[in-house]
Amino acid sequence: MFCFFFKPFGLQNYTFFLKYESFFEKKFVLQDFFCIFAPKMKKNEQFYRYLYAWYAENRRVLPWRETTDPYCIWVSEIILQQTRVQQGIDYYLRFIDRFPTVDDLARATEDEVLRMWQGLGYYSRARNLHKGARYITEERKHLQSPEWFPAGYDELRRIPGVGDYTAGAIASFAYNLPYPAPDGNVYRVLARLNDDETPFDTTEGKKRFRKQDCDLLDQTQPRLFNSALMELGALVCTHPTPDCEVCPVSDYCLGLKHNTAALLPVRKSRPVVRDRYFCYTIYLNGDKTLIRQRTEKDIWHHLWEFPLEEVEAFPERETPLLGEFTHQLSHQRIHARFYIEKVPELPPVPLTYAVKLSELDDYALSRLTLKALDLISESVSRVLF
Ligand code: SF4
Repeated sequence: MFCFFFKPFGLQNYTFFLKYESFFEKKFVLQDFFCIFAPKMKKNEQFYRYLYAWYAENRRVLPWRETTDPYCIWVSEIILQQTRVQQGIDYYLRFIDRFPTVDDLARATEDEVLRMWQGLGYYSRARNLHKGARYITEERKHLQSPEWFPAGYDELRRIPGVGDYTAGAIASFAYNLPYPAPDGNVYRVLARLNDDETPFDTTEGKKRFRKQDCDLLDQTQPRLFNSALMELGALVCTHPTPDCEVCPVSDYCLGLKHNTAALLPVRKSRPVVRDRYFCYTIYLNGDKTLIRQRTEKDIWHHLWEFPLEEVEAFPERETPLLGEFTHQLSHQRIHARFYIEKVPELPPVPLTYAVKLSELDDYALSRLTLKALDLISESVSRVLF
């Protein structure tokens, strides 16, 4: 390789060098000397300045951003994994109000935790949070300080249900440690900034974007950097169309330069969605009904619902139909019908319990059951009174 250095007239602070990259192709590449030899932090300084100035003016005030309590940040991160921010705020505030510390959460029963999660979906998140809280309290028993919470990245990673992303988010937001936290918003921004077509939902893609996030990370202000990059993805570099005109870092964006931004990021595959057909029967004897807990390894594990028969296709039934829903999950589409049967005596349906309708609030119910309750409450009162 042959190269020579020069300082362009008028750019005395910059040194460039021309690298003779390929003898055969007779190709010279102009490179910024600064970018090769200066510390990474300096290389990105201007990028940070633009990003932080935009963030200071445009950031949303969110309850989990106003704290550095690792427990609160952990809860918020788990809630936000499959939930929109607006919906997540209410759940977060109620959850922290009911379980203000990791000890409170560890002491709660699983049913109590699921009840606070009711309606959010993806209940394994709540179960893992609960398991994680028990793990933490168990682990710190021997320590003097009751305030102890895992602080290092590796310790955080050992908490059940905490993966690379969540550990990075807690480490940077709570302790300002230099770890990346590439969520969906960040993947999108990075894919566009680097005009990178690697599918982000593959092992290779995840590794690649994590590396890009590490390279770009502001080592001196990781909390600020991660928050600002996520916010950029949430408010400006949005799906499906980015708002490049107001983007503070558009000068650095290869996706914009190559006109590919709207096509990025690339997803390898859409999940295969399976259709399922659920027939629920609401037996009514006065104000009493039957419910069952889902114990099988399936969706809505441990949640309560009305007696269910899963079928291949909906049969003809004479029982009055009270409501019908289609409920979309990530890999399944649930078609549900709710029938109501007024009976002189509650039938002996295996594994069900008799409860008063007014007591249903005490049980953790699936979102679908809640929807049905809303819809049918009027009809139920008509039947009862
Ligand atoms: S210029 Fe457009 S595509 Fe590039 S990072 Fe900004 S908003 Fe995203």
